[in-house]
Amino acid sequence: MNDKVDNLQKELTELQEKFSQIQKAHAELKEQFSRIDSLYSITSTLATVNTLEQLLKYAQEIVQRDVKPDQLTIWTVDNDSEEPSLKASYGLPRDFSEKNDNFGGPDSFLAEAYNKKQRIYVDDLENAQYQDTRFPGLNKPSGAFLAVPLLSDDDRVLGLMNFYRKKRNGFTPDDIEYISKIAEQIAICLHNILVFEHTKEMSITDELTDTFNRRYFNQRYEGELQRAKRYKRSLVVIMLDIDHFKAYNDLNGHLTGDKVLQKVAATLKGILRKADMLARFGGEEFVIMLPEISKAQARKVANKLRRKIAKTQFENEASQPNGKITISLGLAVYPEDTEDAQLLIQYADDAMYTAKTQGRNCVAWHGMKLSGKRKRRASEAGAKVATT
Ligand code: GH3
Ligand code: MG
Ligand code: MG
Repeated sequence: MNDKVDNLQKELTELQEKFSQIQKAHAELKEQFSRIDSLYSITSTLATVNTLEQLLKYAQEIVQRDVKPDQLTIWTVDNDSEEPSLKASYGLPRDFSEKNDNFGGPDSFLAEAYNKKQRIYVDDLENAQYQDTRFPGLNKPSGAFLAVPLLSDDDRVLGLMNFYRKKRNGFTPDDIEYISKIAEQIAICLHNILVFEHTKEMSITDELTDTFNRRYFNQRYEGELQRAKRYKRSLVVIMLDIDHFKAYNDLNGHLTGDKVLQKVAATLKGILRKADMLARFGGEEFVIMLPEISKAQARKVANKLRRKIAKTQFENEASQPNGKITISLGLAVYPEDTEDAQLLIQYADDAMYTAKTQGRNCVAWHGMKLSGKRKRRASEAGAKVATT
């Protein structure tokens, strides 16, 4: 009888053990199912994300919801400089600085993940072998750290996501797999966004001078003019052209000429306000749109630009007819000079031509009165000069 009870007891214990194993497996399966489910919904949502801002926000949300690390940083790597910059984070100490130092020197785990293009997992930071402790906000950290690079199809590091948990061995192998899968999806989305933004940028900028191109200018010009009309505000158009640029090119070659174009554009940009728009109109001609200023103010701006270019040093400029690189500028104002979009540009262009006839390196405007001598000069050059 006792034997029977003992046997039954044993069987019961075994059954209980099996049951708890099944329960554990069930919980694990449930967890895996829920992660597959989450991954599916993450992938579908990411397909609708199309700006970097949205992506960073969503990535942070997912991590906080599904991974819950104590700290998170998301970095993107600049395409040209290859420098990483911190774009999103949470859980960081207040004194955390965004300097790239925090990205770590060559011997930090972040740099290791970046250089090796592989995820790096450190289960116990306190006992890990490393020399550089400059990673997110921690000087003498303990806990677990995971750095996951965001890779493009062609194996470039587009960014990095870094996870930290205060607990040692804070990430299970399942966690790490799951995080890597999320990171893969985020990387795909990031890649698409970067390609899209690059294409967009290429289609609106002039490659040589890094100013807006003419097509984009036309598009924005329409909009700005509508706005000026609606709010009864002024809009100034300045046309400007480099003086005797053909001579410069002939003497110094096209490539040196290109450098002058780049420097002229950069110099102009340095002076203009954020609201102003500089575009390359063609060849060595630029157009500037300045909202909400008067003709008198526009003349001041134009002269400031002219003086600045004349003062700026350019390679081999002494050979120019007037000993330096200079520009001629012409301007017209909406609605004072005309309310017609095409005419406004035409008037600014005519004024620029007047500036050419007045000896170059000067500013002219629609409606500018010319003295007798100047009028003669202009008519000799065949300029269309407004007499009012
Ligand atoms: P002006 O003072 O009357 O404007 O004389 P100019 O010589 O500047 O005028 P012109 O229209 O005769 O010549 C413009 C020159 O600008 C012709 C060409 O050599 C140069 N140019 C136009 N586009 C580019 C460019 O993309 N790169 C370089 N290097 N030169 C250019
Ligand atoms: Mg010219
Ligand atoms: Mg020209």
